[in-house]
Amino acid sequence: MNIKNYINGNYTNPASNDWLDNYEPASGKVYGQIPNSSAQDIEEATAFAKAAFPHWSGTTLDERSRILMNIASGIEARLEELAQAESRDNGKPVSLAMAVDIPRAASNFRFFANAITQFSAESHESVGLNAMNFTLRKPIGVVGCISPWNLPLYLFTWKIAPALAAGNCVIAKPSEVTPMTAYLLGEICTEAGLPPGVLNIVHGLGHTTGQAILEHKDIKAISFTGGTKTGAHLAKTCAPMFKKLSLELGGKNPNLIFADCNYEDMLATTVRSSFANQGQICLCGSRIFVERSIYDRFKSDFISKVKELVVGHPSQEKTNLGALVSKSHLEKVEDYINNAQAYGGTVLYGGKRVSVAGYENGYYLEPTVIEVDSNDCKLNQEEIFGPVVTIMPFDTEEEALALANGTKYGLSATVWTQQLDRTMRLSNALESGIVWVNTWMNRDLRTPFGGVKASGVGREGGFEALRFFTEAKNVCIKY
Ligand code: NAD
Repeated sequence: MNIKNYINGNYTNPASNDWLDNYEPASGKVYGQIPNSSAQDIEEATAFAKAAFPHWSGTTLDERSRILMNIASGIEARLEELAQAESRDNGKPVSLAMAVDIPRAASNFRFFANAITQFSAESHESVGLNAMNFTLRKPIGVVGCISPWNLPLYLFTWKIAPALAAGNCVIAKPSEVTPMTAYLLGEICTEAGLPPGVLNIVHGLGHTTGQAILEHKDIKAISFTGGTKTGAHLAKTCAPMFKKLSLELGGKNPNLIFADCNYEDMLATTVRSSFANQGQICLCGSRIFVERSIYDRFKSDFISKVKELVVGHPSQEKTNLGALVSKSHLEKVEDYINNAQAYGGTVLYGGKRVSVAGYENGYYLEPTVIEVDSNDCKLNQEEIFGPVVTIMPFDTEEEALALANGTKYGLSATVWTQQLDRTMRLSNALESGIVWVNTWMNRDLRTPFGGVKASGVGREGGFEALRFFTEAKNVCIKY
């Protein structure tokens, strides 16, 4: 199946006729090709986006909202097809794509269709000076949205929906590793009545297509989700051009488990927060710290539960873990496991490739639990982004906090305790953008979403996203 770019409402081939292979992780086979778009394609897409901007930015909020609602319904109407496509492209279980990825993509559009009708700006009366200030929130113009492979349509639409709702025209690039659902989104947008040129979806590699988006002078803002190293490169490229930047980057999220927690709830959720989507969610809790008095019990119960997880073909209903996203990613994750000893840990369970009958070349890996005795080791400091967690005991709350904060990252943290005062102390002191207490991945789309330290700059979600995708202009009137 050949994927095309979606530019000005039409599906087109890349100008250079340069194509990349698209792999199916479950079988390791090439199943299609995607454009490797060049600066010429970005130039063309941007010209159409610029031409569409005056009309789209002047469209009433009701009308914008109606079209975004149509897109949400269009995604829902094709739930099964999109879930199958996401699973085939990414290797994730179809059941996960059906329950999470695709419904959430629809929710993103529905949420911002509603949010834009409630978005407002402030006014400030300069009392005694006979002046009135009011703020206009103007769409930026043409903006770039660049997303990763782990939750392909979910994260792609998390950027596109607020950008469009705020009145911008968009040049969007999904990951070259998982382009399929982004490709299908074009069709849905056309059917929903989105005018041509308002959303343009271009495919290709980061250093070709992505780089051309960064460097285009008329693309005024970039919303990016991906790795920390790529984020640093984006910042370096975009800063001298004074582009607005939102960066959602990597994580190494701590999971603090105290002896007073609701044990069964914690255990079930911790298995999920470790291995959902093969551990390839930026919010997965990859460093598990457990209070020493329950450490041995946890270790044994956790490993028993992990042993029950089924690694298998993504289309099988009983599959808990599908395939990892690519061969190179599988090899990267395996490097951490194979060198666990040298990198500071002991593999307690898992670590081996899984051969799935009929799909022997797929990228399957056992869920892996590694015990470490220090937080300073490579296994606890580097983002592995696969089905691998480390476990380690702690003695005091102070020590747990220091361990949690002891990385360069700061995306999310999970705390398991029944104590209110401890909850409050830790919620205040944890260096992360998101703190979950006695839960995980519990999302309300109105809340600010993002990380601190090397996990990013800026916040997505709710009105934060609409603020990012608009410029504030103050108007002062003397009377
Ligand atoms: P990546 O940084 O390799 O790629 C992300 C996107 O950036 C892709 O579309 C890629 O083509 C593009 N890109 C790469 N180089 C570029 C360049 N020079 N110019 C412009 N674009 C470029 O990340 P990935 O491997 O696709 O995704 C995994 C990473 O994403 C992990 O680190 C994970 O933690 C992170 N992530 C973060 C969040 C979050 O919300 N903070 C969510 C999901 C994933």
